[in-house]
Amino acid sequence: MSVKVTINREECTSCETCWITAPEFFEQDPADSFSSVVEKYRVGGNPAEGEGPDDLKDKIQESADSCPVQIIEVA
Ligand code: SF4
Repeated sequence: MSVKVTINREECTSCETCWITAPEFFEQDPADSFSSVVEKYRVGGNPAEGEGPDDLKDKIQESADSCPVQIIEVA
């Protein structure tokens, strides 16, 4: 089972937590400095939406739990 992830990018504070915790899945977008899903896991090329593989599930969840503004949604 993969995990569906959305990032409410407009409210990202670029605190770095998610891309340090799960660098395989999150990255800092060079254009606006906000968190993005890495290209490989994007859905429809959207940097705010992704589908993560099962083996990254725990790291993705940890990132979401640690986000200080709680804008990473995992389903
Ligand atoms: S943890 Fe949250 S606020 Fe911090 S960079 Fe990631 S999405 Fe942005």
